[in-house]
Amino acid sequence: MRTFNRTFCLFVAVIISAWTFTSALKIISRAEWGARHPLATRPLRTPASHVFIHHSDGPTSSDVKSGSEIVRSIQDCHMDERGWSDIGYHFLIGGDGSIFEGRDWSNIGAHVANHNRKGHGIVFLGNFMEVAPTEAALTAAKDLINYAVKERHLRPNYFLKGHRQMGFTDCPGDRLYKIIRSWPNFRP
Ligand SMILES: [Zn+2]
Repeated sequence: MRTFNRTFCLFVAVIISAWTFTSALKIISRAEWGARHPLATRPLRTPASHVFIHHSDGPTSSDVKSGSEIVRSIQDCHMDERGWSDIGYHFLIGGDGSIFEGRDWSNIGAHVANHNRKGHGIVFLGNFMEVAPTEAALTAAKDLINYAVKERHLRPNYFLKGHRQMGFTDCPGDRLYKIIRSWPNFRP
């Protein structure tokens, strides 16, 4: 019986590790966070050459429920107040490391004036002028970028940029900007 248990445990461990290794990145879909339909879409040429990092300059989240509420409010702001066709960003990262789907990889976003055709926008929920994002959020963003390269949404020799490099803004906040300067493919 003990041999059986040990064999069974080993079997389960192998299955779990194989599943973890092969499973795709967990992304909270638009349906899961309760997105409104986009009013229009424009195609983005992929694999894209750039990925732009932002902060939302608003509240951060601690779980999928609070993150979904914030993401819905950002979509409402972008569509109702700014008159955009959809939420501006491609992905939104919560404080617990949850990744929320915004615009599709293959659609042009609205997050960096005059440069939206170059690539994707990833936003961290929160304000990161004085505090850094959580390790979970930073890891999620790096995993997402690696996934984008692997799935050919992003070129392997992509340029990583902070929003402030492209225009007059504090985004993505002093603390987050300092962190991404040490990430692979960051370009001054
Ligand atoms: Zn920004």
